[in-house]
Amino acid sequence: MKLCFNQATTLENSTLEKDLIYCEKHGYDFIEIRTEDKLPEYIHEHGFDSLASFFENSHLKPLALNALVFFNNLTPSAHGAMLAQFSNMLKQADALKIPYIVAVPLVTTEPITKMEIEKSSVAVLRQLAKMAAPYEIKIALEFVGHPDCTINTFGDAYNIVTKVDCENVGLVFDCFHFHAMGSSYEDLQKADGEKIFIIHIDDTEDYPIGALRDHHRVWPGEGCINLKKQFQLLREIGAIEKPVSVELFRPEYYKMDPEETIKQAKESTKRVMQQMLEGSV
Ligand code: ZN
Repeated sequence: MKLCFNQATTLENSTLEKDLIYCEKHGYDFIEIRTEDKLPEYIHEHGFDSLASFFENSHLKPLALNALVFFNNLTPSAHGAMLAQFSNMLKQADALKIPYIVAVPLVTTEPITKMEIEKSSVAVLRQLAKMAAPYEIKIALEFVGHPDCTINTFGDAYNIVTKVDCENVGLVFDCFHFHAMGSSYEDLQKADGEKIFIIHIDDTEDYPIGALRDHHRVWPGEGCINLKKQFQLLREIGAIEKPVSVELFRPEYYKMDPEETIKQAKESTKRVMQQMLEGSV
């Protein structure tokens, strides 16, 4: 298993500089870089070139720029700004040899019909796929298990990606988001594993569907998500070999020393993955 660190896990107690050092020290293979805050902070302080040089000289490699927020059902001016942002992300990803850009669907309390959501999402993702085509960069749509997110189940996300029908557009499979809006195991079982580019591993406290929020996430193996079933199906559809990225947003963990958070995130993920491989969870 290739282990990845998502910077949300140390969002409030670390920097990209520290995350890089500790992830390298503790043997992670990949990191997902936050483009909203951690990357600009780092570039401001150390410059872009020092990041490229870090990755050239380290085992740790960048897996994804995280994230393009939001991409679908935007006003014309917001759509233009999103395209400019994506174009900049493509240049950064290309320079750092980052294979994926994560794209997050619109979160809004305004009601939008499923037909309008699908129409806009498919059109925009095709446009992004075309822009990304000259590069070796793929777009990973991450559905968000929140009632106000326009794409909030695996089934809806997979349907959109299937309709986009571009080799460079696939999905992030986040265990929490799958659980949080009660995504269908049947939909996962029917899916093509090739369309899942990245797996986000996490766990959660036991709140009802629709009431779950990111801050309820806990160390993998310490919550109520049926990780065994999710990973069994991911294995069946051939997605198990994809990098597994630990992504938690828990305020309690933000109070820890960042190195301790990074260490514990690795240990709990490894333990759970080991148990699953041995079939003892
Ligand atoms: Zn995620």
